[in-house]
Amino acid sequence: MNTKTILIQGGYSPKNGEPLKVPIAQSTSYKYETSEQMANLFALKESGYFYSRLANPTCDSVAAKIAQLEGGVASVLTASGQTATFFACFNIAEAGSHIICMADVYGGTHNLLEHTFRKMGVETTFVPTNDLGALEDAFRKNTKLVFGETLANPTLNVLDIEAVADIAHEHGVPLIVDNTFATPINCRPFKWGADIIVHSTTKYMEGHGVATGGVIIDSGKFDWSKYPRRYACLVDKDPSYHGLSYTESFGEGAYITKIVAQLMRDFGACQKPQDAFYLGLGLQTLDLRMKQHNDSAEEISLFLSELPEVSWVKYPKHSFDEANHHLANKYLNGCSGVISFALNGTKEQVSTFLSSLKVVAIATHVADSHSMVLHPALHTHSQLTDEELELAGVPKDLIRLSIGLEDAEDIKADIIQALRIAFPQKSNSDDVQL
Ligand SMILES: *Cc1c(COP(=O)(O)O)cnc(C)c1O
Repeated sequence: MNTKTILIQGGYSPKNGEPLKVPIAQSTSYKYETSEQMANLFALKESGYFYSRLANPTCDSVAAKIAQLEGGVASVLTASGQTATFFACFNIAEAGSHIICMADVYGGTHNLLEHTFRKMGVETTFVPTNDLGALEDAFRKNTKLVFGETLANPTLNVLDIEAVADIAHEHGVPLIVDNTFATPINCRPFKWGADIIVHSTTKYMEGHGVATGGVIIDSGKFDWSKYPRRYACLVDKDPSYHGLSYTESFGEGAYITKIVAQLMRDFGACQKPQDAFYLGLGLQTLDLRMKQHNDSAEEISLFLSELPEVSWVKYPKHSFDEANHHLANKYLNGCSGVISFALNGTKEQVSTFLSSLKVVAIATHVADSHSMVLHPALHTHSQLTDEELELAGVPKDLIRLSIGLEDAEDIKADIIQALRIAFPQKSNSDDVQL
């Protein structure tokens, strides 16, 4: 099946007389006729649903659709993108482990790895994105994985997936990629050697800003049993799960089965069937929406680059983003709807500009149908020190603008009217043709 067909039909094949659309299985539990059947489920002799913390038909259908989209072999929905990153890493990096992460990942991922994982006995080294020398030097005997973002939030650096995956594989560890900003419409990380993908489905995938969620997808390509000591957690018998070895019993499904059987069981951060339903609905239009986001952001980033009040603009599609332009051409079909830029003004002027926008909303969110703006140094990344901001490549003046599905002309007009209020003495932008 091709992408647009998977978006509509993937993951759900109704039988005769069943609902054509994925129904919401709003039920915690599942009924069985005999005591033996229930016993067989618990003994893993039969597969079936028994409790929605572990598996739910609505969530499973949507997870299967996403696995098909990314070209993976198994997947699981989670309560949020944060849970997806947490489970994806903690599944193979237990106390005493080491993680290597690109420095400019999402602020929440940085906090999780730098602070919370440290409390659980896992250390993370952050390396400048795409600095392959620094990446080589960061490996330790106990390194379990490399983590990066296809299109980093908010620096918009494009991960050199193939080069980073090659180095990770030389060291016998998988590359986990957060593909939230690109979505499978703009990038297919598995094609370039990534082993595991995570998404915050809260963003473009659901797309309308009504449900938080996450997903983890396994390509099934990383051979855990080749490194039985490093990934003993997947290869050795698990006393908390019927004394089974995940790799022996589940093969390609080992990694995702362990997430469900251990982490979902013990932490319980499952996605809710109602939210999975919204996600499935959003996915139906993902291809149409991403093309619109790509086109509008491409146009508006060019428009911003010509305004005198704007000091710099970053959008990897354009050749003015020298560092990323070639990587974007290689890895991305489009660069999604997020633009980073800065204004030539005082802090007060920037504040006035943000507060004067009317079509574009100030919101701690990105990547959905509504246009939104945020100042990371003041908002999302405010827990980071100046030094950490610099390492994360987040300039103090960076404004993150997420272009929604409104008419691009209305967004441009909104930017111009807000600039007139923030920069009353400048008149050059009055000449801009809308
Ligand atoms: C938002 C986001 C997350 C976290 O997802 P939540 O659904 O908010 O928990 C992770 N990675 C990226 C790139 C994000 O933009």
